[in-house]
Amino acid sequence: MLPLLSLLATATAGTMQVHMLDVGQGDSILLQTPAGKNVLIDAGKKGAVVYQQLETLGVRELELVVTSHPHTDHMGGMEAVVRHLPIALYLDSGLEHTTHSYASLMESLVDEGVSHRRAEWGEVITLDDGITIKVLWPGNSYLRGTRSDLNSNSVVLQVDHGDDCFLFMGDAEAPTEVEVSRGGVPQCDVLKVAHHGSNHSSSAAFLRQVDPDIALISSGQDNRYGHPGELTLEALQRQEVAIYRTDFWGQITLDSTGSGIQVSDGRPWWSPNGSAQKVTPVSAQVPATSIPTPPQPKDVPEAPPSAAALSGVRDVEERAQEKGSDSTENQSRRNWRRRRN
Ligand SMILES: [Zn+2]
Repeated sequence: MLPLLSLLATATAGTMQVHMLDVGQGDSILLQTPAGKNVLIDAGKKGAVVYQQLETLGVRELELVVTSHPHTDHMGGMEAVVRHLPIALYLDSGLEHTTHSYASLMESLVDEGVSHRRAEWGEVITLDDGITIKVLWPGNSYLRGTRSDLNSNSVVLQVDHGDDCFLFMGDAEAPTEVEVSRGGVPQCDVLKVAHHGSNHSSSAAFLRQVDPDIALISSGQDNRYGHPGELTLEALQRQEVAIYRTDFWGQITLDSTGSGIQVSDGRPWWSPNGSAQKVTPVSAQVPATSIPTPPQPKDVPEAPPSAAALSGVRDVEERAQEKGSDSTENQSRRNWRRRRN
């Protein structure tokens, strides 16, 4: 009798799926647990694009939503998600932004009655038996005076499913990696590479410490920021990490049993065993205007590319998104704060 019971327990342990959605230049990752819980990390830039993919994956509600940081390529699609799907808990870095889309997202959380707060350093959220999410950053005090404080204080998450480990870095930068390492970053099977593979992240020391087998990079085809950066790609190759890119393949799906990870949708752009044939990602096939449904959050216009960005001194992305200081308040956020209190 006992052997049969233990066999059944193993059979129902199930598979966790990790989908790196195809949102062009941006990030959006969906976790689906064996018990049917959905966790969303970031929502890309456009609500219609991410919402359509969530619908296709059968998502009707979200157990947990995390916005790594309030830049548009991670947060722009979030209001549509908040407006259309029930969310049990919403976490963010706690850093505010001056954009209209940020204020509008905060208003939507209040309007929809979503429980929301800052992700606490070291907190562990248990999803199903054997699946935990640990907050590795931001710390109790924020990194300040960095190249981009919003990036550097991205919410960094370690997801463990049995023996399988995933590290989600948001747009963290080198100083974040130092802080996370100080707290004792584990060896992890899968690294969602920070900041779309930017050269300002993924230091060799950090990659050696994490020692992943699989690197996931989300970036848009021929994006104007030059993501992923050559230095990052070379560092990953030196570490013999198989590199999967959304600009190369589109959506990438990993299956985790708790004792091993398989790529069920995707081919590596590079692996120690060679590289694969390129396919056209969904984001390049489907014009965003052809996708119906939710309302688009309004957004501030982006600055055009500059010589500084092309020279790699400072990404245009951040220059456009950090217009005004993080601490400067605009009228709409003051309104949001009044409503929240
Ligand atoms: Zn980004």
